[in-house]
Amino acid sequence: MIGCTEAIRQLWEYLDDTVDADDRVLVEEHLARCRTCCGELEFAKELRRMLSRRSSDDLPADVLQRLSHTIEELGT
Ligand SMILES: [Zn+2]
Repeated sequence: MIGCTEAIRQLWEYLDDTVDADDRVLVEEHLARCRTCCGELEFAKELRRMLSRRSSDDLPADVLQRLSHTIEELGT
């Protein structure tokens, strides 16, 4: 089973449906068992919804803060 870092790294591709079939299974498997990443999935979905509606300039400060924190945690 893949770890949280791996799962979150693939989260965006997963949401975009561009992830490999094999990786998709691994991500789903992880999300089904990991509460932490389930929260990340909800967050990513919400963020995508907002991004599709308006420009990133309009994102609430707390969302931007959380996003940059998530990216920092991934070490990117
Ligand atoms: Zn996880």
